[in-house]
Amino acid sequence: MPINHYDVCIIGAGAAGLMCAIEAAKRQRSVIVLDKAPKAGRKILISGGGRCNFTNLYTEPEAYLSQNQHFCKSALARYTQWDFMNFMEEAGLSWEEKTLGQLFCDQKSKAVVDALLKACEQYGVEIILNSTIANISHTNQYQIKHTNSEVQVESLVIATGGPSIPKMGSSDFGLQIAKQFGLKNMPFRAGLVPFTFSQDELTKLYIPLAGVATDCVVTCNGQSFKEALLFTHRGLSGPAMLQISSYWKKGDGLLIDLLPELETAKPLLGIKENSPALSLKKALQQYLPRKLIVQFIELGYLPDLALKSLHEKQLTRIVSQLKSWKVTPSGTEGMRTAEVALGGVDTGELSSKTFETKKQEGLYFIGETVDVTGHLGGYNFQWAWASGWCAGQFV
Ligand SMILES: Cc1cc2nc3c(=O)[nH]c(=O)nc-3n(C[C@H](O)[C@H](O)[C@H](O)COP(=O)(O)OP(=O)(O)OC[C@H]3O[C@@H](n4cnc5c(N)ncnc54)[C@H](O)[C@@H]3O)c2cc1C
Repeated sequence: MPINHYDVCIIGAGAAGLMCAIEAAKRQRSVIVLDKAPKAGRKILISGGGRCNFTNLYTEPEAYLSQNQHFCKSALARYTQWDFMNFMEEAGLSWEEKTLGQLFCDQKSKAVVDALLKACEQYGVEIILNSTIANISHTNQYQIKHTNSEVQVESLVIATGGPSIPKMGSSDFGLQIAKQFGLKNMPFRAGLVPFTFSQDELTKLYIPLAGVATDCVVTCNGQSFKEALLFTHRGLSGPAMLQISSYWKKGDGLLIDLLPELETAKPLLGIKENSPALSLKKALQQYLPRKLIVQFIELGYLPDLALKSLHEKQLTRIVSQLKSWKVTPSGTEGMRTAEVALGGVDTGELSSKTFETKKQEGLYFIGETVDVTGHLGGYNFQWAWASGWCAGQFV
């Protein structure tokens, strides 16, 4: 088996791995990137509906979940959203802000991957795809046996992401390597993922409403998000549900405010005064999708009455019920559809400056393999760029 020597081997040609490779190669380090997939940056390619929501204007440590809330601060401060926007600009790419600071590439996701690959080529990074890692060992150097050859390096970077969307070949490889070297980790679990409900609830409520979307504020375990929810054949999805799913644990309930624009019943009382014969169903249509109201009436959650038949107290109660709708999901769709994996290598094992492990010299973990997970909206890529960039300065 031929043995090839490099300074740095990065396993994983995703967002974090490619950024790390570019930065290390800029420092004249010889860099090889190994990836088992047939294409580099596959999650970038499918991200943001094909337009890669590559960062968020409002990136801040509070938008990340981790056992150690402070760990992400240093990297996010050293490589910011503005730095990646510079990278995009230098590559001739443009973007638009959709909502809530989310930046999407005008030229589509492939252009982002192409820009990263072009920079890799410019600085002489070697990328080997379709490469299965058979074994990793360490004596005075790291030996990585992969498809038909062996690589020996001083620095080994694990950038293999998390196990979400396993049909793309994602796995918990990063945690397996962490375990091999005796590092603590938080098991991966699905984040940014739709909720499922019992068959009975699906039949009664969710399936008839599949496709209906509405704005809401959802709260769970002290965290709230004001975004849209979407009823589906399996339960609840949409940005609000994906966001809160990262904070949810089995058995927890969700508190959903379906009338986020309505503070009190006053506006409904105003409508009643002007149009007493109007039905509650019609009056609520200013605030909620018709199909949702009809279904709630059918299930007896709302009365099918004219406003004149409802006292102020009853209207107040109706509004407060719609502002505090409680549901308890039976589970989530799991890794099959999760946009990200929570958990990863325990941040206590890593330097927040270099991403090198404290116990094992020359071994680095970056990106989604680390126990830092962002909210929906470009935050996960920003973490991948930032952690990759930081490690790239030291490997
Ligand atoms: C459908 C979808 C849409 C998303 N949209 C967005 C978005 O718009 N904005 C956002 O910020 N985030 C988004 N994300 C999350 C984002 O894609 C990830 O957080 C990010 O890609 C993590 O970067 P990474 O480099 O750590 O891992 P990845 O990008 O997952 O890269 C890991 C690489 O390692 C390789 N690999 C894995 N195992 C092995 C192994 N055993 N041997 C060799 N190679 C291996 C993989 O093939 C892959 O190329 C989305 C995720 C999904 C699934």
